[in-house]
Amino acid sequence: MSKIPVAILGATGAVGQRFVEMLADHPYFEIVALSGSERSVGKPYGDICRWVLSGSIPEAVREMVVSPTSTKLPGKVAFSALPAGIAKTFEPQLAKAGYAVCSNASALRQTPGVPLLIPEINYNHLAMIPKQHSQLGWKGLAVTSPNCTTNGIAMTLKPLDDAFGVEAVFASTMQAISGAGYPGLPSLDIQDNVIPYIQNEEEKIQLETNLLLGKMVKGERVSASIQVSAHANRVAVLDGHTIVMSIKFTNKPSVADVVRVLESFRGPEEVKSMPTAPEKPIIVRHESDRPQPRRDRDEGNGMSVSVGRIRPCSLFDIRLVTVVHNTVRGAAGGSVLNAELLYAKGFLD
Ligand code: NAP
Repeated sequence: MSKIPVAILGATGAVGQRFVEMLADHPYFEIVALSGSERSVGKPYGDICRWVLSGSIPEAVREMVVSPTSTKLPGKVAFSALPAGIAKTFEPQLAKAGYAVCSNASALRQTPGVPLLIPEINYNHLAMIPKQHSQLGWKGLAVTSPNCTTNGIAMTLKPLDDAFGVEAVFASTMQAISGAGYPGLPSLDIQDNVIPYIQNEEEKIQLETNLLLGKMVKGERVSASIQVSAHANRVAVLDGHTIVMSIKFTNKPSVADVVRVLESFRGPEEVKSMPTAPEKPIIVRHESDRPQPRRDRDEGNGMSVSVGRIRPCSLFDIRLVTVVHNTVRGAAGGSVLNAELLYAKGFLD
């Protein structure tokens, strides 16, 4: 099989590097272009990229010269790790020009007709794509991945919502430094510290959770109406966001019910066979002090969400803790899985 040529936009950043790592030897996709800002354009990727992941820059891209971000890039799929403002300009242009845009940025997440996708929980939202041609005038298409923290929250809530109905959630986050990109926060701000503010994060969590858990009705997405109260904090962890949640249900489950539903969750058949899909999208931890970001973020190659400390709550019904790898499941890995699903469903033909 000949591989589908792909471009990575914002390839030198924290998420862009994850894309490079995950796509350098992918069975369906081949990297043919890398884009960056003026700082990097015209220089070999291996020279200009400050590689922050383990190991070395993959050989296949080391000599690739970084291109300007434009609709002239080679490739059929554009994986976007652009800052939101730049993405807002380029992503619609790329979709209009015929690319399949798989984005991590927030730019198109609320655009009517553009699915916000986590394949295991709402792959049926792909049904929105055929209308992009007529409604948005795009020759290509776009799908978006949710905010990194929302990934962990929505993956935890979806099977519970299906089983018991989720009415309200209190969520407090402890988010890793890599969530702020590279070079991110000054060390004098984050070492020995907790910063109780991440711009726009709480609003994104509240809105995107409801979009992800929304239902498709007559081809349109109808948002869920879960009350979400989020408190977003940055902590001195390198990778992996931790979220503590208290959840209120319509049909009150026992702790054992919640454990059973989360442990048996596998996602739809259509998604299980995708190369990047983990065997278990959710892993339940039974130890009293897990999940922890350092120990649990790499489960399922960073694609599994770990949930633990499931116990009764005196405020709502159930309390629990979720850990999600922010740059893998919460960013590049989520978008690669979206692209694999687009491929499997014939959207890249
Ligand atoms: P980052 O480390 O700051 O990387 C930004 C990338 O965008 C770099 O490759 C940079 O290129 C490029 N860029 C900056 N200005 C540009 C311009 N004017 N034109 C073209 N390219 C430009 O950020 P990140 O953490 O990877 O985040 C990328 C996107 O993913 C953001 O929208 C973010 O909100 C989203 N996201 C991030 C995470 C996470 O955990 N970090 C999770 C989910 C979603 P140069 O290096 O050449 O300047």
